[in-house]
Amino acid sequence: TTEIFHDADADLSIIQGKKVAIVGYGSQGHAHALNLRDSGVEVVIALKDGSKSIQKAQDAGFEVKTVAEAADWADVIVILAPDQHQRGIYADSIKDHLTAGKTLLFAHGFNIRFGYIQAPEGVDVIMVAPKGPGHTVRREYEAGRGVPIIAAVEVDASGTAWDTAWSYAKAIGGLRAGGIKTTFTEETETDLFGEQAVLCGGMSHLVQYGFETLVEAGYQPQIAYFEVLHELKLIVDLMWEGGIAKQRWSISDTAEYGDYVSGPRVIDPHVKENMKAVLSDIQSGAFAQRFIDDQDAGAPEFTQLRAKEEQHPIEAVGRELRALFAWKQQDEDYTDGSAAR
Ligand code: NDP
Ligand code: MG
Ligand code: MG
Repeated sequence: TTEIFHDADADLSIIQGKKVAIVGYGSQGHAHALNLRDSGVEVVIALKDGSKSIQKAQDAGFEVKTVAEAADWADVIVILAPDQHQRGIYADSIKDHLTAGKTLLFAHGFNIRFGYIQAPEGVDVIMVAPKGPGHTVRREYEAGRGVPIIAAVEVDASGTAWDTAWSYAKAIGGLRAGGIKTTFTEETETDLFGEQAVLCGGMSHLVQYGFETLVEAGYQPQIAYFEVLHELKLIVDLMWEGGIAKQRWSISDTAEYGDYVSGPRVIDPHVKENMKAVLSDIQSGAFAQRFIDDQDAGAPEFTQLRAKEEQHPIEAVGRELRALFAWKQQDEDYTDGSAAR
């Protein structure tokens, strides 16, 4: 069985004895930085000149340095900028300051797994990846709980890289929930697959097809929105609490019977074949290369796909309904409907 690491298995004083630079103050960056500071760790935020995030980090009481200054100062450099920018940030501002004995820390293995970043000898390369969005990582910590994490060590130059990883995981609250050992390869490939095939890609397109099917058949878009999108959260909450079994226990017999007989008609064996093809493209590096090549070219494909998807009719219907009902609760960084990023 899988070994789960908890608070008692980690020594907080290890990370408390190190200077930590957090590169990027976005979703993960702000959460790690605030949780580390509340755990008694010395933290500096690293951002490029002119960054929109500088003000936010300073308002939260952090010292902000340039990435090069911070990388020079720190013992542990945590790269929490977007994956597609990490290679450039590393080459321009981090690499030259990575003397032996320092630690490079990631929350996702993308750049190491696909070879975009290669650390010099003598540097520990580790990963502490929370299995949840950054805003949840912060919210759970403040509530006295944590988001589970998975941790990996790619290079153990010091011989103590795992101790550092668990200490960091404890400081961000992850070991209140629990931590599991993984590898950069396993984390990267399963994370990309999960978000593409099921959580984001699969779910978004399942909901869109369901909505289109009902609206094209003449039903009101507002009713369709409730049935295929709004209720999704209630179903997912039950799955999260007790697996698919608890969800099926809670729904009506009618819904449960429909699940058994109609689910496999919608999600048929073709879907699994398609999933295997998606996994192959992740494992071969084809997805990574397509993403990074597009990003390097100024993201023409990404920008066009984002604009097209934002035009799906379910978005306008949802905006209208969410504004009318009481469940609406937004993240401070997200502006519903304005497409402001
Ligand atoms: P974000 O997109 O939220 O990061 C944005 C931050 O990075 C901003 O502060 C931005 O500054 C800064 N940034 C952008 N470019 C640079 C640069 N050149 N130099 C310094 N800072 C820069 O990232 P995420 O938090 O989503 O992702 C960070 C890492 O965490 C990734 O590896 C991701 O895969 C991983 N991860 C993310 C999860 C999530 O919940 N989002 C979940 C688990 C892992 P500015 O304001 O100037 O744009
Ligand atoms: Mg991911
Ligand atoms: Mg119903």
